[in-house]
Amino acid sequence: MRRQTTLRAAVSSVLAASIAVTAVSPAFAQRNDGQRTVGQRPDISTDEGGLWAQSDKAETEARTKAELNRDPDLTPYVRGVACKVAAEYCGDIRVYVMDRPYFNASMAPNGYMEVWSGLMLRARSESELAFVLGHEVSHFAHGHTLATWRTMKSRSNVGMVLMLAGGGIVGSLLYLGVMSTVFAFSREQEMEADRLAFERTVKAGYDPAAAAALWRALREETAASDFPKTRTSDTRGSIFNTHPITPDRIAALDGLAAGRTAPSEGERTRYRAQIRKFLPAWLADDMRRRDYGQTLHLIDRLAADGEDLGVLEFYKGEAYRRRRLDGDQDKALAAYTAASGHADAPVAVWRELGDMLSKVGKTAEARTAWETYLAKAADAEDRWLVEANLKKLNEGSES
Ligand SMILES: [Zn+2]
Repeated sequence: MRRQTTLRAAVSSVLAASIAVTAVSPAFAQRNDGQRTVGQRPDISTDEGGLWAQSDKAETEARTKAELNRDPDLTPYVRGVACKVAAEYCGDIRVYVMDRPYFNASMAPNGYMEVWSGLMLRARSESELAFVLGHEVSHFAHGHTLATWRTMKSRSNVGMVLMLAGGGIVGSLLYLGVMSTVFAFSREQEMEADRLAFERTVKAGYDPAAAAALWRALREETAASDFPKTRTSDTRGSIFNTHPITPDRIAALDGLAAGRTAPSEGERTRYRAQIRKFLPAWLADDMRRRDYGQTLHLIDRLAADGEDLGVLEFYKGEAYRRRRLDGDQDKALAAYTAASGHADAPVAVWRELGDMLSKVGKTAEARTAWETYLAKAADAEDRWLVEANLKKLNEGSES
């Protein structure tokens, strides 16, 4: 994320100020397999207790955020998926879906989990979503955040971080995307979280191939970026600054999946049915990142099964229209035209078609498109504009 550096500094300082001076407890309560005990809550006087207190604060603020998705069905659905992979930790987790266009999920030591719409939009099946949630649960179960915090402190940059503490920039910036940026996990922790997430998702009946497929798609999306600097990185903003998806992580997951059978294809259709109504809003949000190369890659992946083509072709047109590289205008026109042939096309398709056709001098087609728009969009706020355009067009063709 763009504001990351500032946020990182702010969050570091907040955490340092509140936690650095408290006592270090022994390792957090563990089971024999090295995972935390279910339902534990650390003593507030310990450093882990301090982390929890900060996480509780961040969670309280998350509930008031404008980006919090308040749809009555979506959060319970995501929570259900999280619970399937979290298994014994289900009762420890609280899920918040945020309408933010970056691929991100994170989990605080207190069990507060954020799942961003940018992730939901990029998962192609429930299995892919489940794998990412399982990855976060694995960091949680193994206390990776606490371990990272202690390492950070032992490198004794704390003094310097404390100097930054000064102002009260704080709380509102302390959402989890940022927390995870501060707590950059080690390569080993990432590999471990992948492996454990794989085991959790397969045990819950999900597709063994989903994990590698999703990581591979995200690397491809990175490579499709409009920006050379992004194209050459292992990361693509938010979660991947701390969880770089390297080829060896994918190879390891491919190895784990080899020889295992996948569940039925119906999985993808069912997942799409869950997120269908959010596609327009989430795609519009994604466009705000202004990396149209990535958006177009994302749309192609969403369109691969032939569903929702009216909506997807429309946003493809939007991406080309806004990008304005050589040839993009023709591509936009082609996409809008394709969209108009599908029953689920948004009415805006005909307005954009009219605008584009009139620009290239195809007056008759432009007229038809605008008239179709007016017929379909009886309550549109911009009717007057389209009516004015039509009037101008008709006067022009009469003179
Ligand atoms: Zn991770």
